[in-house]
Amino acid sequence: MAWDFSTEPEFQEQLDWVEQFCRTEIEPLDLVFPGAAYSRDPKARALADPLKQQVKAHGLWALFLDKDLGGPGFGQLKLALLNEILGRYRSAPVIFGTAAPDTGNMEMLAAYGTEEQKRRWLYPLMNQEIFSAYSMTEPQGGSDPSLFLTHATRDGEEWVITGEKWFTSAGARADIIFVMCTNGMFVAPGDAPGVEIMEYPPLHNHIRYNDVRVPADHLLGPEDGAKVLAQRRLGGGRIHHAMRTVAQVKLAFDIMCERALSRESHGKTIAEHQMVQEAIADSYAEINMLRLLVLWTAWTIDNSSTREARTQIAACKYTAAKVLREVSYRAMHIMGSLGTTNLTPLQAMWASAPTMAVMDGVDEVHKVTVSRNVLKGYEPHAGLWPTEYIPAKREEARKKYASLLAADPDLAAWADHAARATARGH
Ligand SMILES: Cc1cc2nc3c(=O)[nH]c(=O)nc-3n(C[C@H](O)[C@H](O)[C@H](O)COP(=O)(O)OP(=O)(O)OC[C@H]3O[C@@H](n4cnc5c(N)ncnc54)[C@H](O)[C@@H]3O)c2cc1C
Repeated sequence: MAWDFSTEPEFQEQLDWVEQFCRTEIEPLDLVFPGAAYSRDPKARALADPLKQQVKAHGLWALFLDKDLGGPGFGQLKLALLNEILGRYRSAPVIFGTAAPDTGNMEMLAAYGTEEQKRRWLYPLMNQEIFSAYSMTEPQGGSDPSLFLTHATRDGEEWVITGEKWFTSAGARADIIFVMCTNGMFVAPGDAPGVEIMEYPPLHNHIRYNDVRVPADHLLGPEDGAKVLAQRRLGGGRIHHAMRTVAQVKLAFDIMCERALSRESHGKTIAEHQMVQEAIADSYAEINMLRLLVLWTAWTIDNSSTREARTQIAACKYTAAKVLREVSYRAMHIMGSLGTTNLTPLQAMWASAPTMAVMDGVDEVHKVTVSRNVLKGYEPHAGLWPTEYIPAKREEARKKYASLLAADPDLAAWADHAARATARGH
């Protein structure tokens, strides 16, 4: 029987180590030196690098990559269980070598890069010797790639990239930028002449590519293949975000439950008030629905492919945003005034819910994908009545008993009476 919701003991040991390591090493670093793990400052790196070494020593570096590319080759299901822990700690993804946007870019390089491109960019990215960004969205429209205008023109042994991108996360500090053009995916050095970083927004950069020249071998994958590469990149990213969201909502739930047991109001603990119980019960069910959807999707990817699992991945994307919004709001509310401050993680978590609903493609677009793909498994009914129209089905079923009904008037009367009685409801 393959439906098994348990974790094998050897892997559970690794999960236990990760949990303890995050609690005792990463959380203190986040609290005292926030941002140190991402910083290029040598003093900050001296704090974070030994932690990365420990992760490597445990064989847990670059969790998302296959063995031949230097990762542990866990697959998505194990990665989901790990991300359920890592997602609770801000710096954990970078300390485990799994931080966006580098991860998605590495996946593209691993899948489509030539040996030379992998040597030049993939391995340095894996070792965090360089950092990358991903430039796809354009100011005039993000949800519809047919509106994108950025283009590369071939000029001898070079490509010349011209266009404007928006919301390129960490673009200003990237060593290399993956630029999605209408005619291919290109890799541009962050300091190439013509790469103009605009002042706003400060973190998710607006970048103008003013005739940026890159060598011919900076085209990644086939010419005109940008959409395929983008799908490959974003599919992985979405499910990984959903995995980490499970960690976030579990954190919100822990905060909510502890508080409900710790405070009193009107003569009893808050946990004894029914509306609080409803918030806890609904959150419990929603978190587990999301978690099982994510684990099932991860399992599907492991047993088929990201492409095969695309309907499930899309469902994970908007469900994660919804559960994050609902559960973090309830937790904040049950925390009362304290919940509205940024003295607990809840305020930031709740504020991130709209971001979750927009980044990696807006929820509406994913809902369209799910609906469209699901509907491929259905057909319109023939004739006037839906397939489940009971009188028509009964008429069909009566044919099975035709000789019996003809031979026995009592049974025929029973059947006629039953048909009228059932219809009487409305
Ligand atoms: C934190 C964050 C990080 C990001 N990082 C990156 C990055 O690194 N690189 C990158 O290239 N991009 C990045 N993005 C951009 C992201 O991919 C886009 O924001 C997203 O694709 C939506 O595009 P848009 O912002 O132009 O919104 P729009 O496309 O203008 O959509 C706005 C709203 O219009 C409605 N809408 C749009 N299309 C439809 C539709 N088909 N059906 C129904 N309603 C619709 C929805 O309500 C939607 O929320 C990031 C975004 C965020 C928030």
